[in-house]
Amino acid sequence: MSLRRPMLSISALCFLALALHSPLFAQAQTSILGFTPSAAAHEAEIENKFKAIPSPDEERRQHHIFTAEPHVAGSVRNNELARYIADEWRNEGLEDVVIRRYDVYGSNPKSTFLEMTAPIHYRAGLRELPVPGDPDMKNKSISSAWSGMSASGEVTASLVYAHSGNPEDYELLRKQGIDVKGKVVLVRYSNPYSYRGFKALTAEREGAAAILIYSDPAEDGYKKGQVVPKGPWGPEYHIQRGAITYDFMVPGDPLTPGWASVPGAKRIPVEQAVSIPKIMALPLSWHDAKPLLAHMDGPIAPDDWQGGLPIKYHLGGNLVRVHVKIEMDNSTQPYYVVEGRIRGAQLPDEWIVLGNHRDAWVFGGVDPSSGTASMMELTRALGKLAKAGTRPRRTVIFCSWDGEEVGLTGSTEWGEQFADELRKKAVAYINVDSSTSGPNFHGQAVASLAPMLVETTRTLKDPSGKTLYEAWKASSTRERSETKQSEAVTDLNLADTRIGSGSDHTVFLNFVGMPVLGLQFDGPYGVYHSAYDDFFWMNHFGDPGYRYHTLMSQLWGVLALRLANADLLPFDFASYASNIRQFVNELEKGKEMWGQPPSAVQPGEARLSPPLDLKPVLDAIDDFEAAGKRLDESASRALASGAIDAKLAATINHGTMQVERNWLNPDGIPGRPWFKHILYGARFTYAHLELPGLTEAVEKQDWTTATQQAEILRQALVNNTKLVDQLNSSLNGETAEAGK
Ligand SMILES: [Zn+2]
Repeated sequence: MSLRRPMLSISALCFLALALHSPLFAQAQTSILGFTPSAAAHEAEIENKFKAIPSPDEERRQHHIFTAEPHVAGSVRNNELARYIADEWRNEGLEDVVIRRYDVYGSNPKSTFLEMTAPIHYRAGLRELPVPGDPDMKNKSISSAWSGMSASGEVTASLVYAHSGNPEDYELLRKQGIDVKGKVVLVRYSNPYSYRGFKALTAEREGAAAILIYSDPAEDGYKKGQVVPKGPWGPEYHIQRGAITYDFMVPGDPLTPGWASVPGAKRIPVEQAVSIPKIMALPLSWHDAKPLLAHMDGPIAPDDWQGGLPIKYHLGGNLVRVHVKIEMDNSTQPYYVVEGRIRGAQLPDEWIVLGNHRDAWVFGGVDPSSGTASMMELTRALGKLAKAGTRPRRTVIFCSWDGEEVGLTGSTEWGEQFADELRKKAVAYINVDSSTSGPNFHGQAVASLAPMLVETTRTLKDPSGKTLYEAWKASSTRERSETKQSEAVTDLNLADTRIGSGSDHTVFLNFVGMPVLGLQFDGPYGVYHSAYDDFFWMNHFGDPGYRYHTLMSQLWGVLALRLANADLLPFDFASYASNIRQFVNELEKGKEMWGQPPSAVQPGEARLSPPLDLKPVLDAIDDFEAAGKRLDESASRALASGAIDAKLAATINHGTMQVERNWLNPDGIPGRPWFKHILYGARFTYAHLELPGLTEAVEKQDWTTATQQAEILRQALVNNTKLVDQLNSSLNGETAEAGK
């Protein structure tokens, strides 16, 4: 699905200022993090050869193949594309190419129907109409409006406008005396951003019978600028499809939570599946929402609930009645993950995993076929190098995921299937969902890999003529000033180190415990998950010259090559420590709020101070940071010496790979056992959530749980400090044994 970027929080941007200590950025151009000087020179040669291969014409050709027909998960076309990818990869010289099958709980529409029955009759078209100049919009197999994982059913009830469908919106309705129980709610997308599945869950909890989610022109339509076919914004009929799966509880096939849905796998009964919604849902264009909104009675909606349509928005609840009927096909269906690799020449059992999802709501112009095109050019280029004898030291694995749009399904099943092996062998996962919807680069990384991501962008050329690094800094500066964030952009806060959910990195970070990176170019884009997100859109607005697609292939590949070829893996644990300190400080900053929900405190009543002391955690962070600095210095020295014993390097690298695994709590975060990472998590909205177990306990003022979670965090820090110190000793020849 490619999480539509929520506005970055101020805190998200305020943090790395204190963070990166490192001299890394001051190094000369020829040096590369993790490489000895001679290996860096060799690496630069390989990278130059590699970067010369991807071409805009080939990106465009591949993009046209993937966007030629709608290819939703489970469709014949999407399965054909799986075979096409496998064939291409074999021809390109990739090895061990296999198509893996997962039998999952299906969710496909048999029929969807919506009409207004009072005060007038209106039958919603639920279709996206053609626009001049775009032949694909005449394709007969474009689906009508539907929501993945909607419940089946039928209801006729009055309609209530519930703004964005967040809990506070229902609070306001309650204050106005409007109850949504048994009624249909009409909500809009993204104001502020929240995952549609969270809107569905919220409506379900409120007792609504169905939820209609429409695209208001204020959010992604004419209020933003020119619409298709004249500009990149969403036209009158565009429909944002999407799943409402409760994958924030557990992603993947709802019937195999925590294990792979390989054919014949054990399955839980549907009634026990926590990620299957019980509410009907339907997305609407503003064309279909407008008559409903225009006829609503009841109190006038507050100013910030008014939208971009030229009508007064009312809260409704009486006059307008709608009839919703949805029939879904939930029979089991196969999803296919394509996997291929270039075996490492020296360290075949150390893996760099790269992935992109293949399934699209319709044509997937941006989401995900831009990323698929970039991946195909990447595999062609790396395959070409391998055929010519230039093979990475470590193994690079490529995956084309299926069913990402439904519940991160293919990647989750694959990650669950190979979790044990990945925990032994995987160095990192690099995700590209949508590669390109404009020129502005956004790079995400767990904090230990942020420095190497920033360093890598210095060696790539942006179509503007600047380095990608300079272009990234410039667009970040612009975005921060537009969103009134005062923090200056520096090398230290350029990469986004707050990672929520919403794409295929989730299983690798939160379940397997792998460091992850995520890459995307974006820009004005109002046709997300609609049929208008297609080849025409990309060639007129997103990336007409396919130069950013090409740059993505180059960047993705250079990152993979650096991780695959490094002498010592370029993890920066001091950077990690300062990030974690920032997370804890933010939690502490909210301290005045702790134990003080307005409803719980009577006027004049003294508030108990919360019995949670984070000082031991902060002390443990200091120790981890100091250990990280020591290791960094030793590693720099060892690399500068020009040669590192292979056995010693293996010890150090296996140890540093273990650090991320040590952030996993096998029990998971409270209430969501599948999510095991104690530093990174996601809210139900998909928004990033740092220190998820601890933060949620503090927010609930559950001090027993908060204390337990703080201790789990402290213990993980202590373990990793010990491990990093052992590695440091090994590197300095002080002991032969380092932590596993
Ligand atoms: Zn996507």
